[in-house]
Amino acid sequence: MKYTTDKSFMEFWEETALTDEETPLLLDVDVVVCGGGPAGVAAATVCARQGLDTLLVEKNGFCGGAAVAGLSGTICGMFQAQDEIETKEPEQIVFGFTGEFKDRLTAKNAVTEPQIYGNTHVVTFDPFAWREVADDLLEEAGVRCLYHTLVTAVKKEGNRFTSVQLESTAGRTHVKARSFIDCSGDAALMTKAGCSYTFGDNGAIQNPTMMFRLSNVSEQGYYESFGQNTICSAELTRKLTEAFEKGTYNTPRNHIWVFPTPLRSVFLMNCTQLAGQGGEMLNVINPSDRTHAEISGRRAAREYHRFFKDHVSGFEDSELIDLPPEVGVRQTRSIKGEVTLTNDHVAQCTKAKDGIVRSSWPIELHAGEVSKLHWLIDDYYEVPYGTLVHPALENVIAAGRCLSAEHEALASARVTAQCFEYGHAAAVATAIRHEQGVGYKDVDTDELRRRMIQNGSAL
Ligand SMILES: Cc1cc2nc3c(=O)[nH]c(=O)nc-3n(C[C@H](O)[C@H](O)[C@H](O)COP(=O)(O)OP(=O)(O)OC[C@H]3O[C@@H](n4cnc5c(N)ncnc54)[C@H](O)[C@@H]3O)c2cc1C
Repeated sequence: MKYTTDKSFMEFWEETALTDEETPLLLDVDVVVCGGGPAGVAAATVCARQGLDTLLVEKNGFCGGAAVAGLSGTICGMFQAQDEIETKEPEQIVFGFTGEFKDRLTAKNAVTEPQIYGNTHVVTFDPFAWREVADDLLEEAGVRCLYHTLVTAVKKEGNRFTSVQLESTAGRTHVKARSFIDCSGDAALMTKAGCSYTFGDNGAIQNPTMMFRLSNVSEQGYYESFGQNTICSAELTRKLTEAFEKGTYNTPRNHIWVFPTPLRSVFLMNCTQLAGQGGEMLNVINPSDRTHAEISGRRAAREYHRFFKDHVSGFEDSELIDLPPEVGVRQTRSIKGEVTLTNDHVAQCTKAKDGIVRSSWPIELHAGEVSKLHWLIDDYYEVPYGTLVHPALENVIAAGRCLSAEHEALASARVTAQCFEYGHAAAVATAIRHEQGVGYKDVDTDELRRRMIQNGSAL
């Protein structure tokens, strides 16, 4: 396989895609939601529940984004981090749309009980059921959905979007709307209008990971190796390091996590950490680097499986049954919002007057040679609403992992429970701005919080 990793390759791609082109008008709606990951599913469902005519556009044939297409596989960020976690009951601090989605998974027996992950808890879900729950919620709320469709350009007048251009195998069309919610993960919509953004730590972003699932794992053997904690032991880290240094296995990441799933004897593996051929960071916005991540990721999954079969109790007879449709991308562009979530805000567990969700998730940084975890014990921060709002746009808001955040802050704020709630908040803000005739920047955040609490959020 030949692919270019020449960095100048990016120069051949045009980021801005403003259009004046006249294409047939498909629809004229209240809201367009771009992207059906956790943020997009929440945003579209809550918009439609508030009576807004809502269109969700998703490039894949199903919802879930990195959680499903990337098989991230657990809902992180719902629980408080605590000391001596083995002796504590899980303490849920995020409810709202997140709680509702989790309850729907529970009703399908498609999510585990809380599992220990370091100093906190997570739940692991069945990705097939995740898609079904999303389909059901969207349909029940009356959202119009277009799968296998890409937003490829926007039309802008002053500081307002008037329409987005869509492309599918059927051709090209456009949709008009009063509001637009960018849940693309990559800030694709806002970037198409030339809005300012940051890219990791001065261009350095987190590594992608190819997740995978193994079947035929002995649970007894797993608990002998891992105990109750889904993060691997120092002993397993030592074995992985030794194997890598000896050159017997290509296992560069030695701090890994493994989760029991709702399916018997099926385990979810978060092990790989992907880099370029010379060990350099992959810029996954660049399709060349992303192609490298896909191919090398599949090979890395095979290699970790070989190590597990040979060296980890319980995995001797395991089989590699599932690789996700796409490599997991943690970070690309972050908008330059009205407010930026700073590293200090997160590390000091700052509360915000316009807070839209709590988070006690650690700064989980997958960059450089070793993955790092910085814990926020017995406390949480609140993410300000202003992190979703771009100062240059009146009727466009971001939700999800492309919120305005510094590098380390994003390594905490990007997980699924929080992304659901960013979507929830963006949808409630949309209803308020339509009622009051204001831009997203001027939405009354006391009213926003009051309505989110009414919807079940804990703020
Ligand atoms: C390897 C890995 C492991 C992770 N592990 C966990 C974990 O264990 N637990 C956890 O809670 N979180 C985890 N995360 C994080 C979590 O999965 C993501 O942060 C979360 O899914 C982000 O949600 P989102 O809605 O912002 O964006 P995404 O999930 O990225 O969704 C964006 C959606 O937009 C669509 N899209 C993009 N551009 C366009 C366009 N132009 N037109 C139409 N559609 C478009 C995409 O197809 C996608 O479906 C992990 C992430 C990775 C990469």
